Amino acid sequence: MKLITYPINPKNPAALIPVLLGLFWANKIEGCELIVFRDIHEIPKKIPGFDVETWIKGKYDPKFILTTHNSVNPVVLSFSRTIRISRIEGKWLRCPCGKVEIFSENNIKLFGYNKIKMIDEYNKCVACGEVVSILEGVGLIAECSLNNEAIKSILFPSIITKEIQSWLSKLPETPIMLTRSRDTGYKIKWESQEYYLDPTIYNLYVTWDYCQKHKDSYIVSGRDTVLFYSMCRLLFGFDVNHIFLPKINIENWNLFVNLNFEEAVLLLISSLNWKNNQAIVSFSDLQFIRRNLLLLVDKMEKLSINDVPEISKINRNFLNLRQ
Ligand SMILES: [Zn+2]
Repeated sequence: MKLITYPINPKNPAALIPVLLGLFWANKIEGCELIVFRDIHEIPKKIPGFDVETWIKGKYDPKFILTTHNSVNPVVLSFSRTIRISRIEGKWLRCPCGKVEIFSENNIKLFGYNKIKMIDEYNKCVACGEVVSILEGVGLIAECSLNNEAIKSILFPSIITKEIQSWLSKLPETPIMLTRSRDTGYKIKWESQEYYLDPTIYNLYVTWDYCQKHKDSYIVSGRDTVLFYSMCRLLFGFDVNHIFLPKINIENWNLFVNLNFEEAVLLLISSLNWKNNQAIVSFSDLQFIRRNLLLLVDKMEKLSINDVPEISKINRNFLNLRQ
């Protein structure tokens, strides 16, 4: 079995969440390994000097080496035969850095202009701070048809299936933008013209493609990727096994990255509640964890998981040391 993360930003401490939990579970499931893809883009540093890989290797000698393979040639990227790809020309909302790139007044109406997350109340891009303007341009969009086929893959926790089905019925109403006008580093050819593929779609495809080729694998990521899951299923025409973590809130990242491996994992697993979307890491547990570290590490070492649904057994109750 393999657990896989979407390409991570190694400079972003939040990437530690799927990596640490993935490593922990991979350690507990016989013959399981964790594959971590690295996003190859230049990434701003949130905590100076922080790097996920260095953090893991400095604190823990992993049985499962972090793999940073992220190389599917976008030219060979294959979309589902049921989607319609078309070239569109017209007006786009754009900012100089290229993070804001939204086509057509239709989409603006659909999302509500002020609800577009990348644009602030002063009509400026939240990434570059420059004014967003309306410019002429071209790009590729995909329109998906309704797909009522049942999902064959394993989704954990299973309550997520409903949410995905709801997106699967809503998404075909909205065209999905496939390309960007800025140089994203990923060129695709369509009807003998070249375009730059959207980097998020590239990252999703790399991970899904890997998962499809390794049938016993599961993607591990946050609950906020439910929309992506639904989008990928429509775009690529297949489904994959997936573990959706709750949205884990860590208020003090500086404190978290200074913990040792066991403390960090214990804090994470004790925050897990699989029925809720939200989980909050409670640093007040740290005192208890440190006082009982030997017992808890012993409990962690003895634990084994036979199958993914058994992951639900590991939650806040893990800190209960009574036999
Ligand atoms: Zn911008």
